Amino acid sequence: LALFGSDEQQRQWLRPIARGEVPAAFALTEPDHGSDSVSLETTARRGSDGEWVLRGTKKWIGNGASGGVTFVWARVDDEGADDHGSVRCFLVEQSVPGYTGTVITGKGSLRGIHQAHITLDDVRLPADAVLPGTRSFRDASTVLYSTRSGVAWSALGHATACYEAALQYATQRTQFGKPLARFQMVQERLAQMLEELTGMQLYCRHLADLEASGGLRPTQASLAKYHNTRAARRIAATARDLLGGNGILLENGVIQHMADIEAIHTYEGTESVQALLIGRDITGVSAFA
Ligand SMILES: Cc1cc2nc3c(=O)[nH]c(=O)nc-3n(C[C@H](O)[C@H](O)[C@H](O)COP(=O)(O)OP(=O)(O)OC[C@H]3O[C@@H](n4cnc5c(N)ncnc54)[C@H](O)[C@@H]3O)c2cc1C
Repeated sequence: LALFGSDEQQRQWLRPIARGEVPAAFALTEPDHGSDSVSLETTARRGSDGEWVLRGTKKWIGNGASGGVTFVWARVDDEGADDHGSVRCFLVEQSVPGYTGTVITGKGSLRGIHQAHITLDDVRLPADAVLPGTRSFRDASTVLYSTRSGVAWSALGHATACYEAALQYATQRTQFGKPLARFQMVQERLAQMLEELTGMQLYCRHLADLEASGGLRPTQASLAKYHNTRAARRIAATARDLLGGNGILLENGVIQHMADIEAIHTYEGTESVQALLIGRDITGVSAFA
């Protein structure tokens, strides 16, 4: 909305969304198009009076069944029009007829927030529902670039909690008559966790500096996400092990962080997708398909 919305859309929605008064969702992924969301099949048909008719399905959409608004990415179906076949974004109030958001149940990760399966069954929208600044799939990618650095920070938060839990446990738990922290192998594992954690912190610090200066490149955000969610997985696994059996108890936190890291490792582009984005940038060759 801030990047591509019209003045009127921003005037009406930006503040309520930023204040959290209206929950907002970003709907790109579809049941058959995750990593290759560039091939999305949801259509936006332009009627003779200029109104839009949206049809399709979306999956994994955070806040998609919250009663707020959803920014739906769809392919324009309007033979002869300049934007025919282009991917554009539409502002959809979740209360409109034809919009159904169903909360996905049975998750073992990020259980504190919901994602929804959305069906768009001939959802009719006024002509000005399209975000005028969106002209192609490249614009959806631009949004993802800017949110990927947030995922790098999330990974750092989860990993920090795991490291702190492991360190505390190592000083308290006694085996063979000594606290775990007195064993050289335990110290080495804590040192390795801190080594990785510090690398993650430096990525985040550098990202923040680049963002503040306006110089953040998409590949740098990908590299930070790639590094930090992978490192967070390793740190969580080591912490889980250092807590022994207690590591699987929810009350000790580590197993929950470990499960949550799995979701952030996947969303905003999987590990392999980040590698392909980075690889394309450094070699000049696309290996996506
Ligand atoms: C908790 C959660 C929240 C989410 N929130 C949102 C949201 O708010 N809005 C939204 O639009 N989406 C959201 N998503 C969707 C998320 O972005 C996708 O799950 C993600 O892009 C991966 O797509 P997929 O799950 O279909 O996996 P797939 O694309 O089917 O991938 C499966 C595996 O195949 C690998 N793979 C795929 N293609 C290639 C290739 N070319 N080369 C090598 N390996 C490949 C992947 O890396 C992965 O390991 C969310 C997902 C989750 C789990």
